[in-house]
Amino acid sequence: MTLLKYLRYELALSRDQMIRIIVRRRSPFTDWNANEIQIFCDRLTEYGRKAEQLATDVKSNSDIDNCHDCGIATFYNDMHSCYQGDFYVCENCVESYAYSDYQDTYINYDDNDEEKYE
Ligand SMILES: [Zn+2]
Repeated sequence: MTLLKYLRYELALSRDQMIRIIVRRRSPFTDWNANEIQIFCDRLTEYGRKAEQLATDVKSNSDIDNCHDCGIATFYNDMHSCYQGDFYVCENCVESYAYSDYQDTYINYDDNDEEKYE
């Protein structure tokens, strides 16, 4: 199956939606969640180098990245910065970190304890 066949027949996209992907390099549906965009981009990478680049562009234009800890696709807005942006984690994984008021970022619980005793 070619990329165009996948888009046209399997996803049943309209011409406008295909233009949105290929020209504007964005996901075909504005209401897709991060995971749906990730699945779509993974599928694109099966269609060769150009489609791989397209997948990279769509992902970055959609403002999504993968959680540092569990790897799940998440919108930047829903991610939390750890160690002042060293890495980013999703809503679920951030629960295993402590928020440091002092550093204004999420850090490991152990590091937080050390701060308190200093
Ligand atoms: Zn996570």
